[in-house]
Amino acid sequence: MQLPTNNFSSAYHASSLEVLERSLKDIPFYRAWRALDPGAGRPVDERFQALPVLGKADIRQYFPGGFIPQGADFDTALARGIIEYVATSGTTSEQVTNIWNQQWWDASERASWQLNRVLSDATKSEHREALLGSALSIGDIDDTGDIAYEDRLWKNYLFLNEKSSPLLWQEKHYRRMIEELARFQPDILEANPSYLWHLCRYASQHNVSLHQPRAIIYTYELPFAWQKRWIQRVFDCPCASSYGSTELGYVFMECPYGRLHQNTRFVRVDFQPLAPEHGGHDMGRILVTTFGNPWYQIVRFDPGDIVRLSEAPCACGGREGFVLEAIEGRFAYCTQDYRGRLITPRRLDAAMQGVDGISGYSLVQEAPGEYAIRVCADKPLSQAREEIVTALQRVYGIEAKFFVEFCDAIQPEPSGKFCYSRSKCLPDINHFIRTR
Ligand SMILES: [Zn+2]
Repeated sequence: MQLPTNNFSSAYHASSLEVLERSLKDIPFYRAWRALDPGAGRPVDERFQALPVLGKADIRQYFPGGFIPQGADFDTALARGIIEYVATSGTTSEQVTNIWNQQWWDASERASWQLNRVLSDATKSEHREALLGSALSIGDIDDTGDIAYEDRLWKNYLFLNEKSSPLLWQEKHYRRMIEELARFQPDILEANPSYLWHLCRYASQHNVSLHQPRAIIYTYELPFAWQKRWIQRVFDCPCASSYGSTELGYVFMECPYGRLHQNTRFVRVDFQPLAPEHGGHDMGRILVTTFGNPWYQIVRFDPGDIVRLSEAPCACGGREGFVLEAIEGRFAYCTQDYRGRLITPRRLDAAMQGVDGISGYSLVQEAPGEYAIRVCADKPLSQAREEIVTALQRVYGIEAKFFVEFCDAIQPEPSGKFCYSRSKCLPDINHFIRTR
């Protein structure tokens, strides 16, 4: 399903056409796609949809030569610091090196703020921003020693954390973060919710109040229900999810009404719906094409998430581009119910939300219809087990088998991010996509 074309401006179509024709002509990797292009006489949407999907494996295999536009003086741009190479975090199979263009990244971020009235107000003039995420994703890392406050400041940013995991935080780190928020007085707190909830749980349990920024932006991961519960006990400012990646810049921004709006000045999005039994016409994956970055052209990249479209107009008034009801979570973290239907991380989280006193879980689908779940809970397992199994049965089916055990904490992945569900038997994404 494609939204009506009047949701996209003529400038958006012009940018799409310009990127398509230049990429197929001037960029070595995409030249191989030319044979699949139905040609200049066809609508631009149809031409995009005829092209293959760009994956991380393609970038790894053909980087950098395959992605350098014909005639671009890359060596000079690298030498002058206009661009640099950056590697993403994670295991060897997850890591990708990309071309980083700070100027384009900053412009993409500024445009994304315009999609949320609170953020556009908070960022009108020079603003202070505190960042809280894994040091594998942002800032400098030191898992054994501590980095001084002054050395974690850069321009108008303060990096609150230098550890690869919140499980490395000791009492002194929690105290330090609370004091530094009061000292730095950020307008914006940009945080990975898997890290922020740890801080909020500490503050709540120790009855400490935190500096209230004008807004919190969730990045790197989606907020889960138990995380939001802790965060909302401590912060009463507006919160918004920002969705993007190193390859793509800022793709969607949540508005004050809880929907996510496409950053149409900087990205084109193509939507591929799932088959009806796996979610229907409004749920699917997105393929993203970047606009306006002269040094790195990404076309139809799959960032690896499942989204749900919003079909009703949003009360914020934002009309252009795709509007999402929700990001359902990473496809790699999806599982399947007893009958093989796709279950997204958000669907699982919605079910677990009904279980009181949960502070995290890690579910693994071991085989079709068999699931093992480790749960962090504030009450004895004997009391929680029945509630957990009932919640899981609603999602996976009454016939499914569940193995429940308690744990003290969920460990992060090698990337410093957290995975709360996965399957050992998940088929390829193409198994779930609607075939025409
Ligand atoms: Zn909106």
